[in-house]
Amino acid sequence: MTSTRRDLFKFAGGAAVGALFTPAPWRLVTDTALWSETWPGVPRPARGEIRAKYSNCALCEAGCAVRARCVGDQPVALMGVMEHPFTHGALCPFGLAGHHLPYHPARLRRGPVQEASAAISDALAHCRADERVAVLDLRPGRTASWTYRRALAQWKNGTYLAPPRILGGPVAVNLAAAKTVLSFGAPVMDGWGTPGNVIAARGGFRLIQAETVESRTAVMADQWLPIPAGSETALARRIAEAWSDDKKRSSDPLVRELASNGPTLVLDAEDRPEILALNQLTGAMGKIIVTRREAPVPDAWKKAAAETQLDAVPDRSIRVLLIDESAPGPYVPWSAIERKLVADNPVVVAFAWSREGYGRHAQFVLPTAVYPEAVDDIPPAVDSPLAQFRLSAALVAAPAGVVNPAEFVAGLAGISAANALRERSDSIHKAGRGTLFTYADAKSTPLKDVKADEFWKALNDGGSWTDAPPERNEIPKLALGAPATAAGENDLPLAVVMAEPYSVPCSPILSKVYQESNLRLAPNRAALHPSDAREYGVEEGGKAFLQTRSGKLEVEITLDAGVPRGVVQVAAGPRTLDLCGSTPQAKVVRV
Ligand code: SF4
Repeated sequence: MTSTRRDLFKFAGGAAVGALFTPAPWRLVTDTALWSETWPGVPRPARGEIRAKYSNCALCEAGCAVRARCVGDQPVALMGVMEHPFTHGALCPFGLAGHHLPYHPARLRRGPVQEASAAISDALAHCRADERVAVLDLRPGRTASWTYRRALAQWKNGTYLAPPRILGGPVAVNLAAAKTVLSFGAPVMDGWGTPGNVIAARGGFRLIQAETVESRTAVMADQWLPIPAGSETALARRIAEAWSDDKKRSSDPLVRELASNGPTLVLDAEDRPEILALNQLTGAMGKIIVTRREAPVPDAWKKAAAETQLDAVPDRSIRVLLIDESAPGPYVPWSAIERKLVADNPVVVAFAWSREGYGRHAQFVLPTAVYPEAVDDIPPAVDSPLAQFRLSAALVAAPAGVVNPAEFVAGLAGISAANALRERSDSIHKAGRGTLFTYADAKSTPLKDVKADEFWKALNDGGSWTDAPPERNEIPKLALGAPATAAGENDLPLAVVMAEPYSVPCSPILSKVYQESNLRLAPNRAALHPSDAREYGVEEGGKAFLQTRSGKLEVEITLDAGVPRGVVQVAAGPRTLDLCGSTPQAKVVRV
């Protein structure tokens, strides 16, 4: 019998149809689904005992109390601690997703530690008498900050630098004492202070938001005062000039309101002295803006370098600059730093968990632990009138290649810092002031009733110390600067308004949601009024260059009728702050 090609096709077709009536193909579909769910690249959920660990979120100075739901040792969900007397169980979206950060694709795990040490030692050996070695600490007030200051005291011309600030550090805000808050663009309801404390105090004050764009805080304010971009100091001057003995009957309704419903707190997104000085008129000084003591430190630490502002350092004088951005804080534009470096081969080392910040400019980027891997203390937030001491405990182990910036700098200076947190804890305990709040049992205990070892253990198990109120409130002094208004420049016609004044490390999942939904302005986007966009020839989703005196950056355009004409809105981040931080006028050029 001969078989033809037709027979072969008939057999194959019959076999295929017949196979459908057997379990084989259906079994294959099920098995393929199962195999693809469990192939080696798919993450497997941790298995183990479910328990709670307590800590404090270190992503910003709010330091919100955290309850981590863990499977075995792996945190799988973060939530607030409802009973906490200051943070009241609130966590912002960054804090809720903070446990994703160790797995961020931009995460650094290894760095040139030996090479950086050798370059620093060599530069220190050749440092001239008029040159400096400096540490820029983006989050001053920590125990690590004291380590830097102690280390810098060992070097001639050792200089400790911190970002400029007026409110924060030794000057704090007691929101509970305010009847009215006039905010010049400060994101009061969206990242300015401690979310739980701001929400708890919100019922007690009337919020007036003076801002160019209707921000989230403006939406939640009692009154949004739309003002032209760059006119904040002019408005502050108008209020100051109308503030007379007759202010309660002033023809200016804003002045009448501030005077009649005081004490009034005045806040500014950029902490400009000429705006904050209004607090001296409105009765805020000493009542709402108060002097805050620092948590005690060992006496032996007090021989330390003083805090210096970058502006006070002579240009071209820093030979070695070590930048600690492991703990997020206000970003100082690179242009302001660069002019302070010596012209010939300065050594710049950034301690960071990703390359996105100063790592773009430094010769060496040394990887650090990221929240929630790092053990660090968190200085009190701007809205905490009392000193606090709380630790961000390590909820997951850090990779082997990371460095501890404070111990690295201490090692270079030949001082010991390995037990600095414990030494600080003992000093606070020795002072015997204040109260310890433990999270697991929601109990407040006077510190004098707790032993030193118990105090240290409680801090490591998630717990916070709050100072006792001072017997006498000292009135902090704020310098009144000269009022100045930003003048528009014809070739850069757009005023830059920052949509997110604070940049906090963001979970890769949240950043994906941002990028795709644009619920919050992503760092690579710029928002324009549709009429301005038409004028500059750009459209929704189109590519353009955002150009300032400092350079240009490629951005994606978002059209937003809520952005006033003549304004371009961008999110604050290292790249946009480098570009727009010191030159808030820009133009948009189609790519
Ligand atoms: S990022 Fe700041 S505000 Fe948000 S949860 Fe953490 S500490 Fe609180």
